[in-house]
Order: sequence, then C-alpha cells, then structure tokens
Amino acid sequence: MSESLMILSGKEVSASVYDELSDRIGALLDKNVVPGLAVVLVGEDPASQVYVRSKTRTFKKLDLFTKTYKLPTETSQNELLDLIEELNNNNSYHGILVQLPLPKQMESDKVINAIDPKKDVDGFHPENAGLLAIGRPRFIPCTPKGIMRILEHYEIDLNGKHVVVVGRSNIVGRPISILTSMKMDGANATTTVCHSGTPDIQHHTRSADVVVVALGVPGFLDNKMIKDGAIVVDVGINRIDADNDKGYELVGDANWSSIEEKVSAATPVPGGVGPMTIAMLVENTVEAAEITLNS
Ligand code: NAP
Repeated sequence: MSESLMILSGKEVSASVYDELSDRIGALLDKNVVPGLAVVLVGEDPASQVYVRSKTRTFKKLDLFTKTYKLPTETSQNELLDLIEELNNNNSYHGILVQLPLPKQMESDKVINAIDPKKDVDGFHPENAGLLAIGRPRFIPCTPKGIMRILEHYEIDLNGKHVVVVGRSNIVGRPISILTSMKMDGANATTTVCHSGTPDIQHHTRSADVVVVALGVPGFLDNKMIKDGAIVVDVGINRIDADNDKGYELVGDANWSSIEEKVSAATPVPGGVGPMTIAMLVENTVEAAEITLNS
C-alpha cells in the first residue's frame, strides 16, 4: 500500500454524522416527534434482506421508529400501491422506503411515483429528482449524498477538478454527476459521465482527478485506467464466490490491489460508501420529521 494513501472511511464519517444528528433527534423527541421510517420489502432477494436488516438495526439503535412491511414475491402491484397509500397517510411515518429491486411483475417507476414526495427519503421520486436537477435539492438520494459528505469530511474540494463518474443510474451515477458539478461549495467540478455506451472509458478516467465507479462490475477499475494521485470513490458492492463460511465476499468496482499504489485517496469496500448510505437515510428521515414539525 502506498504510504501516502488516505483511506476515506465511511465508517468513521458516519459515526460523526450520528453524533451530529443526536441533538436534532433529541430536539424532535422533546417535542414528542419520533422520526419514523416505513420500510417495504417485497420478495426474498438475499442482498435486499441484508440491506433492510442493517438499515432497521441502525434506526432502532438510535431509538427511532421503524417497521418493515414484508410482502411475498407474488404480491400484485395494486396491493403494493394500496400499502404505500396507507403509509402516505400514516403520520407515524416521516419516511417511506421501498427496497429495490422489485419483483418482475412490478414497474418500479409507478411504485416510486406513488410515494408522497415529502416522505420520499430515498430521493427517487421524480419531484425530488427534478428539484436536484435544477439545483434546489430537497431529499438527495442517500448514496450520492453520502459520497459528497465523505469528500467534505476529508476536505477534498472538487472545485475546478475533473470528476469522472462511471454509471448513470438514477440511484447513484446520475445524481452524483449532478451533485459534483453543482455550483456550490465543495462541488463545482467538471464532470464526465461514462456508461455502457462510452467507447473508450479509460480515455476519460485517465484524465480524472476523482473517479467514481458505480457500475456493478467487480474490479472494473485498475491502475491502467487512472492517473497518479487520483482519488477513487468505489460505490460497487458485488458478491463474488469465496472459499469462506458464507461462500461469498463483497468486493467493489475497483481492483484495490491494482490501484492502491497509484491513488492518493480511496474509499474501501466494505466500510466506505456503504455505511454513509445508511447514515444519510437516517439524516433524510430526521429532515423529513423536522419539515413536518415546521409545516
Ligand atoms: P445499475 O442500476 O445496474 O447501473 C449501472 C450503471 O453502470 C448503468 O448506467 C450502466 O450503463 C453502467 N454500466 C454497467 N456495466 C458497464 C460497463 N461494463 N461499462 C460501462 N458502464 C457500465 O447499478 P446501480 O444501482 O447504480 O449500482 C452500481 C453498483 O453500486 C452496484 O455494485 C451496487 O450494488 C452498488 N451500490 C452500492 C451502494 C452503496 O451503498 N455502497 C448503493 C447503491 C448501489 P447503462 O446505463 O448503459 O446500462
């Protein structure tokens, strides 16, 4: 490992986020408002079950209110839409999260559109996505928001830098490309977005000061694709077969052993972006509760 390599630890930054949030949570509890999150999990996807468990565990640890609605895989879209309407009207919930992906018979867009945008703490509803796109964000999707918070914590100012994002999903790639290029403190970068239609991704990543890899391809980014001293934000969480008790291990979209000699800073997997996603979900839910209280 390069001696000057700075590990951008989401574990560490998320701990400071929870510290900062404790006063805000305390102020809400004093007014008898318990920030509440409804989580909807449809089907048996093992990765989704792990994500939901770790999200709800964090909420419980912080004495926040959360309940998981588990629905069988064969649930119809209308049944799910009925549940969302019920949750929209339930004042105990300030946030609603529908864990993706949904089973094949459902259209994610229709389901996301049904969530009250003021309870959309994932920031996926078109109203929230649109507000972000025009530079007036309300709920920012948790993963990109967490990435910006990690960079801020380690005083990595993107102003004037070239950021290359690989991936353009609505959950990560698209919103992080908007945030990094936004005219605001810590951002203001020149951002390039690469995707499966980009002919020569390496051409772009080699000129990047910061590369954000969010494509879901294990070990995609190697040392030939980056310049000396680059900063790498690895969003990928990929399960690959491994000879251990679980039978798998989690790896990112960057090939750590290849890039570590060349980068100046990087987020590890696990312990990088992942813990920040959960911390930002808590922050967005607290924000939603504050909005309700003040409206
Ligand atoms: P996604 O919806 O599948 O989107 C992947 C994006 O990468 C798409 O834009 C796709 O291009 C592009 N892509 C795929 N293969 C490519 C290739 N070979 N070359 C160039 N571009 C390629 O995935 P996602 O939801 O954004 O998630 C990406 C990764 O981040 C996954 O590993 C996921 O598990 C992880 N993730 C982690 C967190 C966290 O908390 N750390 C949160 C969310 C996601 P097209 O648009 O052309 O199809």
